[in-house]
Amino acid sequence: MTTELEIGLYIFILAGFLGYHVITRIPPLLHTPLMSATNAISGISLIGSLVVAGANYSRLSTVLGFLAVTCSSTNVVGGFLITDRMLKMFKRKQEMGIQRRWHQLNRQQWLAVSVLIAVLLLLIFWLRRPGAATNVADAATALRYSYIVSAVLFILGLKGLSSPKYARRGMFLAAFGMVMAIVGTLFHPEIVNYRWITIGLAIGSIVGGSMGLRIPMTAVPQRTALSHSLGALAASLIGISEYVRHLAVGLDSVKMTTIGLEVVIGSLTFTGSLMAAGKLQGLLPGAPITYRGQNIFNITLLATVIATLIYLVFVPSASTLFFIIVGLALLFGFLLVIPIGAADMPVVIALLNSYGGLADASMGFVLMNKIQIITGSLDGTSGFLLSLLMCRAMNRSAINVLFGAFGKVQEEEAGAAGEAKGTVRSITPEELTVLVDSIRSVIIVPGYGMAVAQAQHGVSELAKLLSARGIDVKYAIHPVAGRMPGHMNVLLAEANVPYDQLYTMEQINPYFPEADIALVVGANDVTNPAAKNNKSSPLYGMPILEVDRAKSIIVLKRSLRPGFAGVDNELYYDPKCMMLFGDAKESLNQLFAALKS
Ligand code: NAP
Repeated sequence: MTTELEIGLYIFILAGFLGYHVITRIPPLLHTPLMSATNAISGISLIGSLVVAGANYSRLSTVLGFLAVTCSSTNVVGGFLITDRMLKMFKRKQEMGIQRRWHQLNRQQWLAVSVLIAVLLLLIFWLRRPGAATNVADAATALRYSYIVSAVLFILGLKGLSSPKYARRGMFLAAFGMVMAIVGTLFHPEIVNYRWITIGLAIGSIVGGSMGLRIPMTAVPQRTALSHSLGALAASLIGISEYVRHLAVGLDSVKMTTIGLEVVIGSLTFTGSLMAAGKLQGLLPGAPITYRGQNIFNITLLATVIATLIYLVFVPSASTLFFIIVGLALLFGFLLVIPIGAADMPVVIALLNSYGGLADASMGFVLMNKIQIITGSLDGTSGFLLSLLMCRAMNRSAINVLFGAFGKVQEEEAGAAGEAKGTVRSITPEELTVLVDSIRSVIIVPGYGMAVAQAQHGVSELAKLLSARGIDVKYAIHPVAGRMPGHMNVLLAEANVPYDQLYTMEQINPYFPEADIALVVGANDVTNPAAKNNKSSPLYGMPILEVDRAKSIIVLKRSLRPGFAGVDNELYYDPKCMMLFGDAKESLNQLFAALKS
C-alpha cells in the first residue's frame, strides 16, 4: 500500500466521522436544503474533470473530461442556487417582511468574490501567457493551499446548516470554498488547454443556473436525483479516461481497484438515479415493477460485477472485461431501482446520494486528490444518515425499502382489507366556520396532499386569518410527512410560514389534547392511529402525530382513499372526526372565503 493511499484512507475515515457529527446536528427542518447542499458540494468532482479536460492526455480523455466538466458544473451551480433559494425562505416570525442584515451583506460578499475570481483568473492568464516561464512549483503550492482552505469552508458550510439563522452564511462559505478550489485547479501544472474547460463550464453554468433558479420547490426531489446521476456520470467518465490512459503505461492493482470502484459505483448510481428522477417526475410508471426471481437475479448480477472487478484487479490489462463491467454496472443500477415504488424514492435518492459520495471519493483516490476524498466522504455520510433517519421514521428497514416492492404489496393488502369500519361524517366549509367561531387553538397537520394540491399558500393565509382572530395556531410536522425529509418545512417556508411556528412530532404531541381542532391538510399515514393500536397493521410501530387526541379533527382530502402505505385510516371513523372532501387548495379557498364573509 502506498503512503499516498494510506493517507487518503485516513482522510476518508476521519472526514466520515466529522461529517457524522456535523450532519447529525442539522435539524429535520433543514434536511431538504442539506440534500441539495451536499449535492452542490459533491460537484467538487469538477476539479478532477477540469484536469482531465485541460491536460494533453489523449483526444478521448479530453472529450470525456469535457463531458464530466459539463455535468459537474451543472451540479455545482444548480445545487448552490437552489439551496440558497430554499434557505432564503426560512424565517422566524419577527423576521417576516424584513431583510436580514447578513443577507444584504451577502450581496457585497458576492461582489467581493467576483472581484477576487476575476483577479485570480487574470493572474492565471498572465502566468500562462505565451513565452512566460510558468513556475510549476508555485502553481502546485497554490493548488494545495486552495484545497486546504476549501475543505475547511465546506465543513463550516455544513456546520452552518445546524440553524436556519446561519444556514445561508454557511452555504456562502461553502460556495466560496468551491470557487477557491476551482480557481486553484486552473493553476494545475498539467492543464495546458482551457478551450474545452471554458465551454464545459459555460454549458454547465447555463443548464445548472436555469435549473437552480426556475425549478419549483415541489420538483426538488427529482432535481436532486438528476443531479446525483450527473455527478455519478462525471465520476464514471473520468474513471474510464484514467483506465485507458494508465493502460498504456501499465496499471498496478491499487490503481485498478480505485478505478474499478469509481466506475462501478458511478455507473450504477448514474442509471439508478436517472430511473429515480424519471419515476418522481412521472415519466416512468411509479408502481414497483417486479418479476419472479428478481432479487436472485439482481444479487447474481451484483456478484458477477464484484467477481469481474476482483479478476481485473489481478489482470488490469483485460480491457474487454473492464468495458463489460461498466455495462453490467449500468444495468444493475437500472434493475436495482425498478422494483421500488415512486413513494420510496426519497430513501433511494438518499442512498444514491451516499453512493454518489463514494464514487466521488473513489475518483479522489484515483487522482489522489484529497479534497475529493473529503467531500466524497461527507456526501456519503450525509446520504447514509438521511436514509437511515427516513427508514427509522417509517419504521422500516433499508432492506425492506430496497427489496420489499412496498407500494405493490400494500396495494394488494389494501384491496383485501379496505372495507369501511363505521360511519364517516362530512362537513362543508360553511359549517366549519360555525365551529371555528368558538375555538381558541388549532393545530395544522400538513401532509403529502398539501404538496399535491399546492395548498401551502392557502394554509398560510388561513393561519394568518385565524391568528388575527386571536386563535392560537401551531403546525405539526411529522419527520416523513410528504415525500422527502423536510418536505413540509420547505413548502411552508415558501408560503412565508415562520419556522418558529413549526413543531416537531415530539414537541407537538403533548399539545393535541388541548387543541380545539386538529386541521389535517392532505396528511394520512402520519396520523393513522393504527400505528399505535393495531399490531397487524403494516404501520404498527411508526411514531405518529396524535391528532386523535384533539377535541375535534377536520380532515381535508378528496376521498377515503389510503395514503402512501395503502392502509385504511381508522381516524376517519372516529366520532370526533369530520371530513371536508375535495382538493385541499379549493377547500381552503372556500373556507377562507366563508370565514371572511
Ligand atoms: P400520505 O399518507 O401519502 O397521504 C397523502 C394523502 O393526501 C392521500 O391519502 C390523499 O388522499 C391526499 N391527497 C392527495 N392529493 C390531494 C389533494 N389534491 N387535495 C387533498 N388531499 C390530497 O401522506 P403523509 O401523511 O404525508 O405521509 C407520508 C407517507 O410517505 C408516509 O407513509 C411516509 O412513510 C412516506 N414516505 C415519506 C418520505 C419522506 O421523506 N417524507 C419518504 C418515503 C416515504 P385522497 O386521494 O383521498 O385525496
